[in-house]
Amino acid sequence: IMPRVLIVAETTGYQTRAFEEAARACGVELVYATNHCDGLDDPWRDGAVSVHFDEPEAAVAAVRALAAARPLDGVLAVGDRPAELAAWIAEGLGLPFHPPGAAGVARSKVLTRGRLLAGGLPVPWFFTMPREAGLDAVADRLRFPCVVKPLALSASRGVMRANDPREFEAAASRLRRLLDAPDIRVLDDPAHDEILVEGFVEGREFALEGLLDHGLLRVLAIFDKPDPLDGPTFEETIYVTPPPLAFDAQRLIAATIAHAAAAIGLTHGPIHAECRVNARGVFVLEVAARPIGGLCARALRFARGDRTGVPLEELLLRFAAGESMEGYGREAAASGVMMLPVPGLGRFRAVRGVDEARAVVGITDLVITARPGQLIEPLPEGHSYPGFVFARGESADAVVAALREAHAALRFELDRVIALDRWPDDPARDA
Ligand code: ADP
Repeated sequence: IMPRVLIVAETTGYQTRAFEEAARACGVELVYATNHCDGLDDPWRDGAVSVHFDEPEAAVAAVRALAAARPLDGVLAVGDRPAELAAWIAEGLGLPFHPPGAAGVARSKVLTRGRLLAGGLPVPWFFTMPREAGLDAVADRLRFPCVVKPLALSASRGVMRANDPREFEAAASRLRRLLDAPDIRVLDDPAHDEILVEGFVEGREFALEGLLDHGLLRVLAIFDKPDPLDGPTFEETIYVTPPPLAFDAQRLIAATIAHAAAAIGLTHGPIHAECRVNARGVFVLEVAARPIGGLCARALRFARGDRTGVPLEELLLRFAAGESMEGYGREAAASGVMMLPVPGLGRFRAVRGVDEARAVVGITDLVITARPGQLIEPLPEGHSYPGFVFARGESADAVVAALREAHAALRFELDRVIALDRWPDDPARDA
């Protein structure tokens, strides 16, 4: 009998489509819970439930009704808010998943900091301030360099480094204006009434993709981020695995992240963690209660015995359906993804050089996700990449070289936009 898995997602899109393909491949029946559907013609969406992220009780009731007809075997979530709702649903239905409280902590950068501190993990100094507070209110606590950030946005949106009081004031006021943007106001989330300020942590950055299996961390991959992330904004570009680290260093990262996940209270399900490593230790920046976002999952393929090319989504579905993960490992080849850097502020018109970029040795895929007319905005305000490039090779260095060469072949064409009053001090606004 076909296992049945519920996926909680913000909306249906390319990420949920990857789950649909995987579900077909491994014989799992998918049911969606989303707060927005944009493709009602899909046959897999027969049993879709419509939910509101801030009404967990109603969502639990709706899913319970759905499960009465045919029981669910597990839940998965794509995105931070969906993960929290998935946790409520799992609790309501008695399915294994992270506890709701822990998913809520993971979603908040300041609650995470507090738990890591209490758990005895290396943490930078930090404090929150009301979003309207000025320099005077915090001057006695402030040190430099520091990082100013929102409590609950993602993709580095709104995260800025400040090296002195003047930069701090500029960063804080820019973040205030960002939090006033309509797409954030509409969320009506009290997390956006505050700003987090914390010490800048030096070091090289790594990400860990993992599965917590009843409290036990299974590492699916450790990614290196070979580009320095030193500010003033923190645009993610390349993720590559395996990282250039000895086994012991990898083990320390995994052990620290396992400790951080436990301190947050996460227990069962996918996690995606980010950390910075320096001589003082492994500083966990966050542990999200969800898998890696966007199309980046395509950089991961798994194998078990003679079965190869298993996508991350299939692994996650099998896990959610209760299958043992014993024997699964990442495929041997080095693999990487580049989130294409935002080329400036403007409306996306076209990109040239795609064929040339695809022809670079090692490049396995190139996807332009920007649509003509779409507003492309650099960090700290922007939050989506114009596309993704994937490469595989014998070594991480070869993968990184291929990604850079492919990127160099691309030429983005943007149409100018009238400068927005929102960002009067942004030099990029005249691009
Ligand atoms: P998001 O959830 O939006 O990714 P993060 O808090 O993880 O926000 O920050 C995004 C990026 O900003 C990190 O990956 C890192 O490169 C950088 N960053 C954030 N906080 C710090 C810090 N305290 N020290 C150094 N870099 C930081």
